[in-house]
Amino acid sequence: MRVSYGNSGVAELADGTPVACKYRRSVGRPYCGDRVLIEQLADGSALVTQVLPRRNVFARADARQRKQVIAANLDQVFIVIAPAPEPSRDLVERYLVAAHDLGITPLLVINKAELLAAPPVHPPFSRIDDYRALGYRVLAASTKGPPGIDALLSHLDARVSILAGQSGVGKSSLVNALVPDLDLQTGELSRITGKGTHTTTTTIMYRLPAGGRLLDSPGVWEFGLWQMSAADLADGFIEFRDLDAACRFRDCRHAGEPGCAVRAAVEAGTIRRWRYQSYLRLLSQSR
Ligand code: GDP
Ligand code: ZN
Repeated sequence: MRVSYGNSGVAELADGTPVACKYRRSVGRPYCGDRVLIEQLADGSALVTQVLPRRNVFARADARQRKQVIAANLDQVFIVIAPAPEPSRDLVERYLVAAHDLGITPLLVINKAELLAAPPVHPPFSRIDDYRALGYRVLAASTKGPPGIDALLSHLDARVSILAGQSGVGKSSLVNALVPDLDLQTGELSRITGKGTHTTTTTIMYRLPAGGRLLDSPGVWEFGLWQMSAADLADGFIEFRDLDAACRFRDCRHAGEPGCAVRAAVEAGTIRRWRYQSYLRLLSQSR
């Protein structure tokens, strides 16, 4: 599905042709990115008769911090941060935890990189080496000059991606730069659905020149995240994962319990203290 409204949307055939479709009542509403089976109707439109099993779903939090699914079958999420607006403390950790909770690979994008001091002095920008050492990809980008968007382009081909981040970090600018025929594509989709293109709630899947797909959705993770349990939170700190089996208590929250292997690793220097402190702050805010 390229785009999906309440009871209709646009699917795409294997050869790339977009087709208007309605949903068989029993099927429910497919998400953008869903793989579906369709039945062609006499009037040239189509009926979605089945949604194929999903690899994963992508979600944002609604105004009441409930998880709201907006897309399916993503390969990766680009966490976009920028020197301005400055990310709040723990923002990157929050986003990383969310990506891991969804089971979708996160990459960090530092946009407006031309505004960054060299070497960067403030976290999270001063911690790029730490993020890389943890195994995360960190890409620098700018839509206004060097280093440009090449690093992003090289990670987009043949994959399905979405950009997430605070308002003002440059997500729309990046989508515009990454999808050269964006207006053409939105025009075509809106012609097929008969709906306006500039809605503030619709998630749209764009085709990228190199073969990948980019989902554009308003407000992805701009307004905080859904509530998460302590266990899911700890799972989002990837360097804790192999350790928690070694904690004395099975339900250890790694917050000062005796025999905690995570705490021991912090003391031994194998877990970065700033990551652990960030975990403790997020834990104190979780249920
Ligand atoms: P969004 O809210 O995340 O979609 O951000 P926008 O794409 O609307 O961009 C917010 C502001 O940042 C706009 O004024 C853009 O012109 C500006 N902007 C976007 N990318 C860059 C960049 O790479 N460098 C600089 N200096 N400004 C940028
Ligand atoms: Zn523990």
